[in-house]
Amino acid sequence: MSHRPVCVKCGIEMRLKEDGVGCLDLTEKQKPCQIWDSDMYKCPLCGIEILTDFGQLPVATRHEKGFAETVALWRKHFSIVENKKDDIRSK
Ligand SMILES: [Zn+2]
Repeated sequence: MSHRPVCVKCGIEMRLKEDGVGCLDLTEKQKPCQIWDSDMYKCPLCGIEILTDFGQLPVATRHEKGFAETVALWRKHFSIVENKKDDIRSK
């Protein structure tokens, strides 16, 4: 059992926008590292979007055979969000 995410700014439950979204974790050098299955939620008021509901384990990691092919398949058939490593962007 889980609770839908709540938008802190708006104080309202977010809506599921898309399930089966690939979260592609990148290394410090911004190279693909792991891919996770997740769900995208959107706030109906402010429109902010987040990924949540990650599985217990990644779908694939870069040390596994066929990782590049798996990433290519996800890019072709699903939405992919790249998760940049420690990229704060407030510099
Ligand atoms: Zn909101």
